[in-house]
Amino acid sequence: MTTSQNEPARTQRVMHELRPRLLEVVEVSSIAPRMVRVTFTGDDLDTFVTLDADDHMKMTFPPREGAELVLPAWSEHGPVWPEGKEKPAIRDFTPRRHDPLAKRLEVDFFLHGEGPASRWAAKAQPGQILGVLGPRGSFVVSDVFDWYLMIGDETALPSIARRLESFAPGVKAVALIEVDGPKDEIAVATQADASVTWVHRNGQRDALEQAVRNASFPEGEGFVWAGGEATALRGIRRYLLREANLPAEWASFSGHWKIGVADHDHHEPIEN
Ligand SMILES: Cc1cc2nc3c(=O)[nH]c(=O)nc-3n(C[C@H](O)[C@H](O)[C@H](O)COP(=O)(O)OP(=O)(O)OC[C@H]3O[C@@H](n4cnc5c(N)ncnc54)[C@H](O)[C@@H]3O)c2cc1C
Repeated sequence: MTTSQNEPARTQRVMHELRPRLLEVVEVSSIAPRMVRVTFTGDDLDTFVTLDADDHMKMTFPPREGAELVLPAWSEHGPVWPEGKEKPAIRDFTPRRHDPLAKRLEVDFFLHGEGPASRWAAKAQPGQILGVLGPRGSFVVSDVFDWYLMIGDETALPSIARRLESFAPGVKAVALIEVDGPKDEIAVATQADASVTWVHRNGQRDALEQAVRNASFPEGEGFVWAGGEATALRGIRRYLLREANLPAEWASFSGHWKIGVADHDHHEPIEN
């Protein structure tokens, strides 16, 4: 890849006004046996900003089955919770598709079973209300890299599918997506020169790492994005940065969840 002063920034951090929103479910559809697409609407979705497939927002869910969803008032110092009420569970999700004119926002939920978010999504109904905060900012990755590698499980699929959709025609992309089996694959649209491989885990914890090790990448300088189970990403990161010698500068790894940990903090580093 050659660079010049006129070349647009390859990556850019853009911050947004942090604003809480109340969103109402308008549509629920099953897109795979364990994946539900929930479409929300809300008066202020016209000012919602999401610039990159890597964006995430914080969503509030009832903390227990049948619990009331309590929402905070908002002050200049942040959320103010009503006294004596149980706070909601807050989890991170990817804005899969946003239409500001129609004031619609789609979110794809993986129904992994346990947890307030997964439980809520399994029974989501039109008319239900959720609180949403963010995205706080976007890490915008431009189309100027020679190629893109996207790796992840079902929780990364919304981001990977969104990025594949957003690529200009001819952009070289490789996607490795881990799901249980063939019935969990979904259609992904792209104009990119993309190779999309569905990795069937068949009960194996390192299926995705094996697929990454077996993959070949195009020539030139690539950008790597990976999201999924935090421990599983360690081996993948180690392989890509230490054995395949891809530059850490152009790689982003996000532990979307961690086995046995509720509300895992994705800021926890994926160590070598
Ligand atoms: C930046 C970011 C973007 C994300 N985007 C999406 C998205 O668009 N769609 C989506 O479905 N998820 C997404 N996730 C992942 C999601 O936030 C987590 O899976 C979260 O833990 C779900 O909350 P929960 O209340 O269902 O479970 P929690 O209460 O957090 O966890 C309960 C139990 O379930 C386990 N668990 C959590 N997630 C999984 C899983 N995927 N598979 C198996 N077991 C699991 C935990 O280890 C724990 O034992 C994203 C995460 C991040 C950090």
